[in-house]
Amino acid sequence: MAATFEYDYLIAGGGAAGLSLAYYISQEPRLADKRVLVIEPEAKNQNDRTWSFWTDAPTPFDSIVAHEWEQLAFRSPQFEQVFKLARHRYKMIRGLDFYNFVGQALTAAPQIVRVQGTVETLENTSTGIVAQTSAGTFTARYAFDSRPPHFQKRPDKYRYLLQHFVGWEVEAAQDVFNPKTVEFMDFRGEQQHEARFMYVLPFSKRRALVEYTLFSAEVLPKAEYEKAMRDYLRELGVTDFRIEAEEVGAIPMTDHPLPTTVGRHIVNLGTRAGRAKPSTGYAFKRIHAHSAHLVRALAATGQPPADPTGDQWQFSFFDTLLLDIMQRQGEQTRHIFTELFTYNTPERLFDFLDERTSNWENLQVLNSVTPGPFLRSIAHVLRGRPGRRVEK
Ligand SMILES: Cc1cc2nc3c(=O)[nH]c(=O)nc-3n(C[C@H](O)[C@H](O)[C@H](O)COP(=O)(O)OP(=O)(O)OC[C@H]3O[C@@H](n4cnc5c(N)ncnc54)[C@H](O)[C@@H]3O)c2cc1C
Repeated sequence: MAATFEYDYLIAGGGAAGLSLAYYISQEPRLADKRVLVIEPEAKNQNDRTWSFWTDAPTPFDSIVAHEWEQLAFRSPQFEQVFKLARHRYKMIRGLDFYNFVGQALTAAPQIVRVQGTVETLENTSTGIVAQTSAGTFTARYAFDSRPPHFQKRPDKYRYLLQHFVGWEVEAAQDVFNPKTVEFMDFRGEQQHEARFMYVLPFSKRRALVEYTLFSAEVLPKAEYEKAMRDYLRELGVTDFRIEAEEVGAIPMTDHPLPTTVGRHIVNLGTRAGRAKPSTGYAFKRIHAHSAHLVRALAATGQPPADPTGDQWQFSFFDTLLLDIMQRQGEQTRHIFTELFTYNTPERLFDFLDERTSNWENLQVLNSVTPGPFLRSIAHVLRGRPGRRVEK
């Protein structure tokens, strides 16, 4: 006799990845009879983050894009350029707009139930899953788990960095920003043996999100980010400004394997499934591509796909090399990005970071950077131990 479950799919966590999956399910007519439970502890009624991404295709979320940019600036002491984007646009979505937009779509889909609660354990059974939660025990055919990952152990063969930042949405007293140009990476400040840059999303001539961003192992005292932002604004001639909102984050950048499945009936999502790209921390677009990939398979076969993410090994390898350099010699990062932007168009770099480039294009990208640091990192990967910082 076939096992009976309360739900077909249980989604643990209703943040970016959990809500994305629920949204894609709600839009797929072949899954209209599937009973879905989303369990999330928070009300999701705060604008707790903004998501930015580049894209050369329409997205299901274009109606909630708060701003988009057609130009991108890269700056370092050796090279500065404002690029006109040919094929891509850089876009930004506010977290709260996304939560509300998906919330409305889910309210219109009666098969999807949302419960406020915390998932404590998820276990495979012979035919499905059982979840112990603060709202009771639930069974389902499959679980999709987007709870934040916890590394119980940090084996020293892997690299552990963070993309960490503090950002202010500021309103300046005078015109100072160019709302057509995203300041993608401004590496002109002190590096202090790390990768440190300003990232600025201007919404108008007076209003912008200004973020001091680092790729490094440890977060800084908050006052350091704040000082860097004040210094940056002062350099622009802005001393009179109001802080309208603040954004703080730390996204894992690691080659520690993050499993995409656990047993036969649990599929991981989001950061938990390694969707934050290890070498950049960008995750939003990868999360939606993952949801679309899962929903296509569920609709076509009734099961999650055999290859849960479609990741290609060569791009993971490039990520590991860059992480190795950042961990061993963080100040090299500025030089590497300078070379990448000097010798490639943003279009090619975006395609490369989106893992869409051919082997020939990958070679062209790799050929644009000084090989020494990468060759040393290849040696570290081959011997199975990350490079360590050598103080000179
Ligand atoms: C401030 C910030 C800004 C970012 N900006 C960008 C960006 O511009 N571009 C980009 O590509 N990426 C960005 N990222 C990275 C990434 O896109 C986000 O972290 C994204 O939210 C990850 O999605 P997720 O579903 O894995 O995690 P989350 O969105 O954090 O969702 C996880 C959910 O699980 C819930 N949860 C926790 N414990 C439990 C439990 N026990 N049971 C049930 N639910 C639980 C949480 O409440 C949360 O809602 C940013 C990250 C942060 C933190």
